[in-house]
Amino acid sequence: MPDSARAGDSTLAVHAGARSAEPGAAVVTPIYQSATFFMDYAPGSAVSYTRYGTNPNHLAVAEKMCALEGAESAVVVASGNAACALALLACVRAGGHVLAQRELYGGTLRLLQRELPALGMEASLLPAGAAAGAEADAAWSTALRPDTRALLLEVPANPTLRIADLDAAVRVGSAHGLPVVVDATFASPINFRPLEHGADLVFHSATKYLGGHSDLSAGVVAGRRELVAEVLEKLVSFGPVLDPHGVWLLERGLRTLAVRMRQHNENGLAVARWLEGHAAVARVLYPGLPSHPDHARAARWFGGHGGVVALVLHGGDEAALRCARRLRLMAYAPSLGGVETLVSMPRYTSHQAVPLDEQRALGIDDGFLRLALGIEDARDLIGDLEQALAPELTRSPHAARP
Ligand SMILES: *Cc1c(COP(=O)(O)O)cnc(C)c1O
Repeated sequence: MPDSARAGDSTLAVHAGARSAEPGAAVVTPIYQSATFFMDYAPGSAVSYTRYGTNPNHLAVAEKMCALEGAESAVVVASGNAACALALLACVRAGGHVLAQRELYGGTLRLLQRELPALGMEASLLPAGAAAGAEADAAWSTALRPDTRALLLEVPANPTLRIADLDAAVRVGSAHGLPVVVDATFASPINFRPLEHGADLVFHSATKYLGGHSDLSAGVVAGRRELVAEVLEKLVSFGPVLDPHGVWLLERGLRTLAVRMRQHNENGLAVARWLEGHAAVARVLYPGLPSHPDHARAARWFGGHGGVVALVLHGGDEAALRCARRLRLMAYAPSLGGVETLVSMPRYTSHQAVPLDEQRALGIDDGFLRLALGIEDARDLIGDLEQALAPELTRSPHAARP
């Protein structure tokens, strides 16, 4: 579509990467259920092969993601973790070091702490608690090593929704010629676009908001052309390709991304505000609330704050489990970003492998519940929480506190 950079989010989500409007052609990208494609006889011409990420379904989604993120180039892969792994491997090789913020998805921590060392790379983490401004510049600068090859952030961070000072990381990264890589899964390009802040690569678990229906595993990496070309090299070599039907589902999900995000954002704010006034709730973590430690930055940078709301119950983990069991509309399952609301306790899911004292340092306190709100009506979600939390109010403090 002409001049797509000027169009609005929803227009881009629907139209970017669309096919040419020849009479008789399909309006929707067909599923190219083909592993390979006819070649040109000219030696050295481009080859299309599904594992190369050059299936027309991949190209359509990559183009849409470029428009949404404001990226030069994008690659679609088989999962969010594949996106993370390939993005890092594109920047760092054996003997290199990755410097990351401490607040990270459990799967990312696993990759950094378990797999990179096995490949001859090292990773270290900044201290917990997002510093801002000059303090953040100093935190990144002092932790840099001569062998550091990339800076890694997750904005917002799972599950406390901390918003790291990306501008500080970008200042330090560009001063030292180091690429800044951002996992923006929790934001989606509708709420926040790290490349506009100077990040070099952004990646997503497209399993979450981008796909939006909890029916596929996928990942996307977007950013500077030469780095994305290197990600594509890794995809070709390691092979975590997304199958054509999966890409097609992703393209279908992306068309409604902007309207879904509007509802996730609305629900997040409504539920967070309601929870903050509830007597069984000790703390609510939502960047859209003034009580969130990074609210000011979130208000400046974000178009909306998403559907993930974290809360801490007075009664500890037992109360959190009791509440989860009583929920009727909200399902107890990991993941986020789908149209249906899912509830989980990070202690038993994404952060299972993280020691308890480390979890507490990250802000995952006893009684921590993560709500991944879907696009249902806010009043029904609040009604479900109301009935699930009500019995906690009548329990004596001794019974409720283990
Ligand atoms: C889910 C998730 C991932 C991993 O994505 P998969 O698609 O499950 O591989 C990475 N980062 C964040 C923030 C996530 O929520």
